[in-house]
Amino acid sequence: MGKIIAVANQKGGVGKTTTSVNLAACLAAAKKRVLLIDLDAQGNATMGVGVDKGSVAHTGCDVLLGEMSLAEAVVKTEHKGLDLLPSNTDMTAAEVELRSRGGGELALREALAGTDYDYVVIDCPPALSMLTVNALSACDGVLIPMQCEYYALEGLSALLDTVEKIRAVINPKLKIEGLLRTMYDPRNRLSGEVSEQLLAHFPGQVYKTIIPRNVRLAEAPSHGLAVIDYDPSSTGAVAYKHLAIEVSKAA
Ligand code: ATP
Ligand code: MG
Repeated sequence: MGKIIAVANQKGGVGKTTTSVNLAACLAAAKKRVLLIDLDAQGNATMGVGVDKGSVAHTGCDVLLGEMSLAEAVVKTEHKGLDLLPSNTDMTAAEVELRSRGGGELALREALAGTDYDYVVIDCPPALSMLTVNALSACDGVLIPMQCEYYALEGLSALLDTVEKIRAVINPKLKIEGLLRTMYDPRNRLSGEVSEQLLAHFPGQVYKTIIPRNVRLAEAPSHGLAVIDYDPSSTGAVAYKHLAIEVSKAA
């Protein structure tokens, strides 16, 4: 079994899905076998790799509720080496059902046992919900995208507390894979200040790679493409390629 990375931050719109899709695609482009798991009922990661969330036969919900194996629900994407466990609004049923089950937080970990991808990248919903707890219980590390703006640090301590609790009770190997600065605008003084604050508070835990604000990253999902396929020379594509290298060099 390779490495399982949960991309999580309960704050909405900070770049979780953009990071999950593009990191997964860049790792696959580097000839790794990669599974992208969409755990968000919004189905943004599913659509982002060109799979129609409205017409998939199965979703992660079926897998989490034990109705089928992971392998049965996974679909191939257009991107070579990249598989997807899709999501759509059905996933809200999984959230509710798992909350009422004893051991419900272990459903994803159990579903992933025995799979042999080089990387599994999990796109979490914007909440410290049962689905996010499932991701944190199943993963080796959590990658936290942080938008470099005023309220960036707000809510981070709640996330770190949750990580701490899950490490203590369920998943002793869980570590902070890294904090990722997203939507960075070098012309904006606040971006620089928040970035400095992150480096000061979390020495050694912030990725060197910075994801710039880049319109290509926002456009690519509407074509169902990762940015490396949509516009490979864009600043967004180059940044996510660097992130994939940084992630693959980490222990
Ligand atoms: P949610 O919490 O709703 O799941 P999220 O954390 O997954 O959101 P994204 O969907 O990745 O965040 O990004 C929010 C919006 O910002 C999207 O419209 C996305 O296209 C855009 N976006 C993300 N990263 C960048 C970037 N680096 N440059 C420009 N636009 C970006
Ligand atoms: Mg998202």
